[in-house]
Order: sequence, then C-alpha cells, then structure tokens
Amino acid sequence: MSRAARIEVDWTRCDGHALCGLLLPENLANDADGFPLIHRAEVDPANLRHARRAVSACPALALRLERT
Ligand code: SF4
Repeated sequence: MSRAARIEVDWTRCDGHALCGLLLPENLANDADGFPLIHRAEVDPANLRHARRAVSACPALALRLERT
C-alpha cells in the first residue's frame, strides 16, 4: 500500500523556474512570474511518480515530497 505524501516548496530556495507546474500539474501550477501555486498539497499515490520527477528536476532543490 502506498503512503500519503505532500508536496512542499522551500520558498527560500525557489527561483521561479516554472518547471514544477509542467511536471506535476495534478498539484501545482506556476504563476506569471514562474513561481509555484500549490492548488493541492496532498499527492495521490497514482501521481507519486510525477511528484518524484518534479522534485528531481527542480534546479533549485526547492521541492520536497514529505511522507504524511
Ligand atoms: S521548479 Fe523549483 S525553482 Fe522552479 S518554480 Fe518549481 S519549486 Fe521553484
């Protein structure tokens, strides 16, 4: 069974590269300046692969996936 997880942004690191909204549209969008807008923090187990990909791709190491 998959455990629940939350996507979190470290705002001290995020540079607004606008990548995460493309890679995890189920949870994130990016605003006009490229910064993330979290429309849903809880990540469904079916979207964990997308979430891990977004965390790995963030060039500022600003995305985290926290187990809940
Ligand atoms: S990919 Fe990383 S640095 Fe870019 S907007 Fe998303 S959290 Fe911020």
